[in-house]
Amino acid sequence: SEATSEAWRLHGHLIGQQGSRGSLNTPALVLDLDMLDRNIAEMASFAKAHNVKLRPHSKTHKSADIARRQIAAGALGVCCAKLGEAEALGEAGIQSLHITSPVVTPQAIQRLVELNAKVSDLMLVVDHPDNAEALAAAAAKAGKPLTVIVDIDPGIHRTGTASPEATVALAQKIANFRSLTYAGVQFYCGRHQHIVDFKQRTAEIKERTEYLQGILAKLEEAGLKPGIVTGSGTGTHYIDAKIGVFTELQVGSYVFMDHDYNVCDLRGLDKPTFEQALQIDARVVSANAPGMVTVDAGLKAMATEKGPPVILKGAVYGSTTRFMGDEHLAVIAPEGQAPPKLAEQVVLTPPHCDPTVNLYESYHVVKGDTLVEIWPVTARGRSR
Ligand code: PLP
Ligand code: MN
Repeated sequence: SEATSEAWRLHGHLIGQQGSRGSLNTPALVLDLDMLDRNIAEMASFAKAHNVKLRPHSKTHKSADIARRQIAAGALGVCCAKLGEAEALGEAGIQSLHITSPVVTPQAIQRLVELNAKVSDLMLVVDHPDNAEALAAAAAKAGKPLTVIVDIDPGIHRTGTASPEATVALAQKIANFRSLTYAGVQFYCGRHQHIVDFKQRTAEIKERTEYLQGILAKLEEAGLKPGIVTGSGTGTHYIDAKIGVFTELQVGSYVFMDHDYNVCDLRGLDKPTFEQALQIDARVVSANAPGMVTVDAGLKAMATEKGPPVILKGAVYGSTTRFMGDEHLAVIAPEGQAPPKLAEQVVLTPPHCDPTVNLYESYHVVKGDTLVEIWPVTARGRSR
């Protein structure tokens, strides 16, 4: 509405009078709502068809609005990477949260039991017996049991138990505490998500799944058959669902898709499965050098560890980019072609969506060229 556009203009979101994408103040994190909803619907129907549940990872979006859309499409709840994210989404009304990294300090464990009292369904991983003891003591004192999942290291040594024996021993220890509820296991193969070749990714995931199945068999023998077997990501969701060992998938990046994942062949098809819903709008601020211009989105406008961004719109095909410092990016036209003009808009694809989102206060949500909503990045900066 005009009143909303006026408010957005006053708050610096728009440089023009119209609530259109073209008048966004740049750099802006833009979310294409139709693409987002199609990505959510595609993963929801995929999971349903493969008889597996979804608990999407909110580390990608850090947004209560997007979590609600995923839950409305059938997800059990969402995963959070950190306690701070879970607190932020819990405060925003998301009731079902699974924290996928260990919470170990006394201060954090105190916050954890406070969050446990507020939301209806909280879980977290544990990978060490000492941590299980600390969690059990805090939960006993707080008077509400904590639901825990044993994190198993798939071989990358980031987090997780180091062997089948350590996994069974930890599950047994948890099951013995009255203040802890043993709910299952987590097995997240982070490195495998990004193996570009589909056949190689499939072969390596099959080998890792055999390791997991060996542990599941030992747990069952010990009377500790896990109710939940959670893991997977956007890169392996298809392979994991076909194998069928996980009871739920913790896919994250599929909602947005970044360039890194779009070059992976996610389902062994020759076309992308998900759309690049998350984009960065930038604008030409200097156009004095031959064959190139400078736009207003540099190192502070996106995660950079995957290299400079690819141009989606606003420059001739074949144009490339190069970082020009904290605030600036060069857009270089192919030989003999003209770069965009001063003040024109250029749309970029974030090289890596999760850390890019954390740099912005809000999503500018568009439907076609119309700005329809502005959503906060609810858990922005809540990394502890
Ligand atoms: N689960 C865990 C533990 C993760 O760390 C991540 C992402 O890094 C995900 C799930 C989501 O993976 P993806 O972004 O590949 O979908
Ligand atoms: Mn990521």
